[in-house]
Amino acid sequence: MLGTAGCASTAPITYPQPRPTVPVADPAPPPALPPDMSVLAQQGPYLPDAYLTICTGHVTNAPPLAGDGTVDYSPLIVVNNQVVLASIPTNNACLSSGFGRRNGSPHEGIDLKSRPPTMVFSSGPGIIRRVGRDNGYGLNVVIDHGSGVATRYAHLSRVEPGIAEGVVIGFGQALGLMGQSGNATAIHVHYEVLVGQWGARGVWDLTATNPFSWPAYDPGGSIG
Ligand SMILES: [Zn+2]
Repeated sequence: MLGTAGCASTAPITYPQPRPTVPVADPAPPPALPPDMSVLAQQGPYLPDAYLTICTGHVTNAPPLAGDGTVDYSPLIVVNNQVVLASIPTNNACLSSGFGRRNGSPHEGIDLKSRPPTMVFSSGPGIIRRVGRDNGYGLNVVIDHGSGVATRYAHLSRVEPGIAEGVVIGFGQALGLMGQSGNATAIHVHYEVLVGQWGARGVWDLTATNPFSWPAYDPGGSIG
């Protein structure tokens, strides 16, 4: 079912978001895929943020905070023990809504905002399965990362040249600008991490998960 009905929010949100007083280094993006994996693509320009703030105003399903007031999260996560993803696909955005039930319906992703609206990046390598307008989601992109993992980026205002269905894409490549298309009352990106088997209904057969629920990527560890 659509998880975007609750994307609407009437509470005021203020900008910009403060950076932490103690500087933290952004993590390096994950290494390029090994050559025996099925999806080979160039890495993009995105560098995952080491911190994430909660937008000021009313934020539903806010995740736990660390001691410095930023979100206690892992910038890079491992989904299904196979796929390394960025847990947020933006830089310098704040979290305006978390994952979970909201106003009586499920919110199947997280909402990220920044002003001015900024670029949304692929959170992992894969094949683009959907670029188009869908009810609720507005202009959205869906990437199939393999191993039963997909991501969706919704409410975009436009997509970058070359972003089209069937295109192989790498980690951190520019997808498009956050916007207000579909069911959204403010400019943001709605980001979903989906797992499951692609069935007859395609992406609609997958199940949304909380990006912050997955374990952190360990550069020195093994995957798979
Ligand atoms: Zn949302």
